[in-house]
Amino acid sequence: MPRHSLLLALTLALFASAARAQTALTPDQAEARAIFQQLIETNTSYKEGSTSPAAHAIAQRFLDAGFPAADVQVLGPAGDKDSSVVVRMRGTSTTLKPILLIAHLDVVEALRSDWSIDPYKLTERDGFFYGRGTSDIKDGATTLAEALLRLEREHVVPERTLIMALTAGEEGGGGYNGVSWLIENHRDLIDAEWCINPDGGDPLIRDGKKIVRPVQASEKSYQSFDLIVRNKGGHSSMPTPDNAIVRLAEAIGRLSRYHFPVNLNETTRAYFERSSGLASGQLAADMRAITKNQRDSAAAAHLSVSPFYNAQLRTTCVPTMLEGGHAPNALPQTARALVNCRILPTETAEAVRATLVRIVADTAVKVVPVDTGAPGKPSPLLPMVMSPVEKVTQRLWPGVPVIPQMETGATDGWRLRDAGIPTYGLSGVPLDVDDVRAHGRDERILVKSFYEGVEYMYQLIREVAVGPAKS
Ligand SMILES: [Zn+2]
Repeated sequence: MPRHSLLLALTLALFASAARAQTALTPDQAEARAIFQQLIETNTSYKEGSTSPAAHAIAQRFLDAGFPAADVQVLGPAGDKDSSVVVRMRGTSTTLKPILLIAHLDVVEALRSDWSIDPYKLTERDGFFYGRGTSDIKDGATTLAEALLRLEREHVVPERTLIMALTAGEEGGGGYNGVSWLIENHRDLIDAEWCINPDGGDPLIRDGKKIVRPVQASEKSYQSFDLIVRNKGGHSSMPTPDNAIVRLAEAIGRLSRYHFPVNLNETTRAYFERSSGLASGQLAADMRAITKNQRDSAAAAHLSVSPFYNAQLRTTCVPTMLEGGHAPNALPQTARALVNCRILPTETAEAVRATLVRIVADTAVKVVPVDTGAPGKPSPLLPMVMSPVEKVTQRLWPGVPVIPQMETGATDGWRLRDAGIPTYGLSGVPLDVDDVRAHGRDERILVKSFYEGVEYMYQLIREVAVGPAKS
């Protein structure tokens, strides 16, 4: 073959395979990709954008699919800025309570100048989807919407009513949170027996292999305290023994040497129990020991070397900000440290404050709460949740262990738990543990993970609402 014809043939072959890669999507996958693209390309950050256009776009898809208008609502407290969308897919049962599916539509703001590509454009490159919200959590929102649209298309009628709420205000900045607002103002619209929230519980991949299917059944709550010392001050040429900075420093020193007691709950006990089966040697022995006796101080000390295990075992409080004094040549009149606590869901902010006061052991150091976080009880590991998760996981990802998890950060899940709706962080989109970019620049997920997540969520929702899919 002459050289130019060979080149032409190669080029044609390349085009053909690219076209095949595009057309290789099933109709369900193509729809999921279109929803994903639409969400990513709608700026839903609070400052520059709004969730309302995204909420309306999702609503329109359900209206087009034949859902009655009364079952598709776009609503919120701020006119048509930062609305949420709530879709109800009616089940046959009149006695069973609905299952709620939530994800937030809003994203953390992304600056074009920080990114190497346009954050508000879905870019597919080298096996990744790039864009703000690809991993937090427009992928999750897409998997929920696509699952319901596919069930509808397949004329599958769930036994339990399914309610999907895609909401605003999770990332903060907007002055209100969509989930809390719905709980307070439209509880009837979203009331459910339990809830799936893909904003937690990411299946994890390491070195290209799925290693765990977490079920996030619990979260720590977030509460900061100011430690403040005031002093009458004076000229720095005549120091007095009583100095605000020194008193504060000593208080922080005592605090830093204190460890809150180990306090396992159903979720963290199950986490260490199941993880011990995957670990080996001393680590496995320590995990087993702590589940048998949480006062085992040797096991606790070994495990606490890892910041992750330490945060699973106990409430933590750590100084994160510091200020004091007002002039180089004056005795400080105030010294202040911000101490950020992550409180176990079975403990209260008041009890933590009392502990801080006791450990600081200095009445000149005031301990003042600066924000409030409600704990929300850990969700029980109900068989009606755990058994479908186990089934679908073994069907799609044989051998990948299902492990309950307490999140040390926070999602909207605690708001629902606090309102009495057990909530489970269950994402279907596997995340590479070495490539977490949520809230950061060039946020991305694997293309393969996205389509796996679409299928996983469909199978899971079908399993919990209807029973096993015939395939
Ligand atoms: Zn999120």
